[in-house]
Amino acid sequence: MSAKSRRPGTGGSQTPNECVQVVVRCRPMSNRERSERSPEVVNVYPNRGVVELQNVVDGNKEQRKVFTYDAAYDAGATQTTLYHEVVFPLVSSVLEGFNGCIFAYGQTGTGKTFTMEGVRGNDELMGIIPRTFEQIWLHINRTENFQFLVDVSYLEIYMEELRDLLKPNSKHLEVRERGSGVYVPNLHAINCKSVEDMIKVMQVGNKNRTVGFTNMNEHSSRSHAIFMIKIEMCDTETNTIKVGKLNLIDLAGSERQSKTGASAERLKEASKINLALSSLGNVISALAESSPHVPYRDSKLTRLLQDSLGGNSKTIMIANIGPSNYNYNETLTTLRYASRAKSIQNQPIKNED
Ligand code: ADP
Repeated sequence: MSAKSRRPGTGGSQTPNECVQVVVRCRPMSNRERSERSPEVVNVYPNRGVVELQNVVDGNKEQRKVFTYDAAYDAGATQTTLYHEVVFPLVSSVLEGFNGCIFAYGQTGTGKTFTMEGVRGNDELMGIIPRTFEQIWLHINRTENFQFLVDVSYLEIYMEELRDLLKPNSKHLEVRERGSGVYVPNLHAINCKSVEDMIKVMQVGNKNRTVGFTNMNEHSSRSHAIFMIKIEMCDTETNTIKVGKLNLIDLAGSERQSKTGASAERLKEASKINLALSSLGNVISALAESSPHVPYRDSKLTRLLQDSLGGNSKTIMIANIGPSNYNYNETLTTLRYASRAKSIQNQPIKNED
């Protein structure tokens, strides 16, 4: 166990190292891609976790590139299937006192928000975040002899600034280190007593995300949204406490931001957005190569994800891709990025006293 992950005096019990779980999800062809007859270049073999990518240039198929992940989902995969196969076990671990993190990575328009939040008001199309609320409260309502305290925070990182989405006027939020973990002092936390409370907090945060930005879609594709859930569980018979923490992250679009605009403000914005995602790539590479130096400090995003990548957490990366050859290069970049993340080892420890 690395010194970084040791938690003296917490009574935490360590489980064996485990790799970041990497899952690829390919969305259906969009109406536009269909109407433009853009060829499909992605083949998913869900049973084997295999994704094949084969470019079509001037009508000719290029050599196929094959990638293997912990799981792979095609356009037919439902939100329910993804949740039960991938997310349910992680949330169960959080309810046993582990830290958990799920982050959605991919180019804008590939389904990160669809995967994390889903479609409002449609039970079948509900995404990971609201399903997590349901699993947590089902567990709480069924568990006897325990007292639960559920606190929720919601923040975004935009141009290397942290914004508290539940108290948008808070100034100068910073990521700090405490013991072996990281935290954000003064980040507002709201105590929740039901699924509905949590949904309300999510909606308030989403609404605050738009304040001051004229183009909501553009803004949300350029900022990283991080929904944090902390569950304190007190066993009233033994008087012991466990704490489970879950970070649910919808990352900014991974496309090269400089493609999209040329004004000075835009270029400044682009370089800061690129900084967070390129730092994330550098952290993933350093961990994958077991490099002695991992550059967590290069961006706010990587500092916040310090525990989730190479630290005390069970982590799932969902790499979202599109099926058409229009985005071939971005899809290849995402698949390569996701492949590197597979070898990152974490050291999850149960937080219990
Ligand atoms: P991103 O957050 O990556 O920018 P979105 O989640 O906004 O992408 O998805 C772009 C569009 O594709 C939305 O209209 C969304 O409903 C649709 N979409 C994405 N993934 C799926 C899917 N697996 N099944 C059906 N529609 C999807």
